[in-house]
Amino acid sequence: MKPDIKAELLALIGHLRGYVLYHNQLGIEAFPRSIGLPQTLEQVREELGDCQRCRLSKTRTEIVFGEGNERAPLVFVGEGPGYEEDLQGKPFVGKAGQLLTRIIAAMGMKRSEVYITNVVKCRPPRNRVPSRDEIAFCYPYLARQLRIIRPRIICALGTAAAQTLLNTDAGITALRGTLHDWEGIPVMPTFHPAFLLRNPERKRETWEDMKAIQKHLAEETR
Ligand code: URA
Repeated sequence: MKPDIKAELLALIGHLRGYVLYHNQLGIEAFPRSIGLPQTLEQVREELGDCQRCRLSKTRTEIVFGEGNERAPLVFVGEGPGYEEDLQGKPFVGKAGQLLTRIIAAMGMKRSEVYITNVVKCRPPRNRVPSRDEIAFCYPYLARQLRIIRPRIICALGTAAAQTLLNTDAGITALRGTLHDWEGIPVMPTFHPAFLLRNPERKRETWEDMKAIQKHLAEETR
C-alpha cells in the first residue's frame, strides 16, 4: 500500500476510534447510519458561531479559534487568549506568542506548518486561569479541532492545557518531559511560554521536551 494512503487510512481509523470512544463515554452505544460530524475546521468554527455559552463571551473582543495547518503534524494547545490575542483574534501573538514562534523556528518549522489553539477560545478577564465550567463549555470544540487535524503529536503548553487534555490534577512539573496520550495521540506537556518569560532558567527543560517532539516526528515519518 502507498505510504500516503496508509497514513490517510490510519488517520481515518484514529478519527473513528476517538469519535466512538467519546460517545461511549457519554453512554451512546449505537450510531445512526449517517452522522453529522463536522469534517473541517471551518465547520467547527461555524458551529461555534458567535458563542455565548459561557461568561467569557461577555468580556471578550474576538473569539480566538486557532490558526495554522489543518493537516499539521504538531498542534500546540495553550491556555486561553491574552490581551493581544483578544484584540487580533489570533492565538499566541503577544510576548509569549513571540517566544512560541521562536521555539517553533528553533525546531526547524514555521508557524504555518503547525496548528496553534487554546483550551478556551475567549480571553479570561485579567488573564486569570479559566474556570472548570468555562473549560467544560469550550472543550468539545478543542476536541473536534484535534480529531479533525489528528496530528502526530500534541504539545500542551502549561498547566491548564496539560490538565485538560490529560484529565488530571497533576502539575506541569510532574507531567512535562514524558509522552502522555489523548485519544491515541501522543501529548507532550511543557512549560507555558509566559512562564518561561518569567523563569528563563526553565527554558532548558522546554527545549528537552521540544527535542523529544522532534524525535517522535522523525521516527513517525521514517
Ligand atoms: N497565552 C495562551 O495560553 N494563549 C494565547 O493564545 C496567548 C497567550
